[in-house]
Amino acid sequence: MAEPLFKRAAFIGIGLIGSSMARRMAADGLAGELVACARSQDTLDQAVGLGVVSQAYDTPAAAVEGADLVVIATPIGSYASIAKAIGPALKPGAIVTDVGSVKQAVVDAVTPYLSDQNPFVPGHPIAGTENSGPASGFPELFEGRWTILTPTESTNSDAVEKVRTLWEGMGAMVDIMTPSHHDMVLAITSHLPHLIAYTIVGTATDLEDDLRQEVVKYSASGFRDFTRIAASDPVMWRDIFLNNREATLETLQRFSEDLTALQRAIRRGEGDVLEKLFARTRKIRRGIIDAKQAE
Ligand code: NAP
Repeated sequence: MAEPLFKRAAFIGIGLIGSSMARRMAADGLAGELVACARSQDTLDQAVGLGVVSQAYDTPAAAVEGADLVVIATPIGSYASIAKAIGPALKPGAIVTDVGSVKQAVVDAVTPYLSDQNPFVPGHPIAGTENSGPASGFPELFEGRWTILTPTESTNSDAVEKVRTLWEGMGAMVDIMTPSHHDMVLAITSHLPHLIAYTIVGTATDLEDDLRQEVVKYSASGFRDFTRIAASDPVMWRDIFLNNREATLETLQRFSEDLTALQRAIRRGEGDVLEKLFARTRKIRRGIIDAKQAE
C-alpha cells in the first residue's frame, strides 16, 4: 500500500469541519493515524465512539505529540491560546494548518508561537453547514468546493504544496491568495450574508406573538432560507465578526448605501430602478450554478 501523505494527523477541535476532514482522510488513506483534542469529554468520547479518530486527548499539547500534521479547527477566538500551548510540543518539521473563516487575524494569532521548524499554512474550506459537533461531519463535505490557502511570505513552499495535495485528495479545488484579500472576498460572500440573515431572523423574533407564528407558518416564502444561515454556531460567528472587523464594516457600509437607494426607489415608485437591479442579480445566480457551486 502507498505511504499516507501524513503519518499522524492531530486535530485541535473535532466538530463539523475537523471530523469531516478526519473522515475523508481515513477513507482515502491520507493519514496513517488520526487523533484529536477538544474541550469537553463528551466531544472526545463522541469522536472516538464514532470512529472519527483513534485517540483523543484533553490538552492540545498532548494531542500534537509526534504528529507531522496539526489541524486547528476551533472557533478563531481560541487560536492564540492553542498556538501558545502547542508551539513547544510540536515535532520539528510538523506542518500546522487551520480551517478558520478569517485569515489575517489567524496569521497574527498563530505565527508568534511557532518556531521556524514548523511551517504554518493557513487554510479555509469554502464548504460547511449550519450544524456543529463531531456527529455532523461527513466525508463528502469538500467535494467540488474551493479551499483557499493564504501562506505568508515566510511560509515554506513545500509545506504549502503538501497541504494543497491534502485538500485535493479530499476532493477540493485549491486557490492561493493573501490573508487580507481572502478576508475582503469572504466579507462579501459569507460574512455579510450571515449578518443580514441574523438581522432578519432577529427582527422576526422581536415581533408580537401572533405575527411571529405566521412568520413560521408562511416561512417558505423566503424567510426559511435565512433561518438556515442564521442557525449557524453563535460562538463561531461572534469570533468571525470580531476578527474580520474592517472588511465586514467596509462591506456593510456599501450594503447600507445600496439599501438606502432601494428604499428611495420604492418610496418614489421607480419600478425601472428595481427591475434593472433584479435582472442584474439574477445573472449572478446563473453564474454560480454554471460554476457548479449551487444546484
Ligand atoms: P464546531 O462543529 O462547533 O466544532 C468546534 C470544535 O472545536 C469542537 O470540537 C470543540 O470542542 C472544539 N473547541 C472549541 N474551543 C476549543 C478549545 N479552546 N480548545 C480545544 N478545542 C476547542 O465548529 P466547526 O463548524 O467545525 O468550525 C471550526 C472552525 O472552522 C471555525 O474556526 C470556523 O470558522 C471554521 N469553518 C466553519 C465552517 C462551517 O460552516 N461551520 C466552514 C468553514 C470554516 P467542544 O465540543 O468540546 O467544545
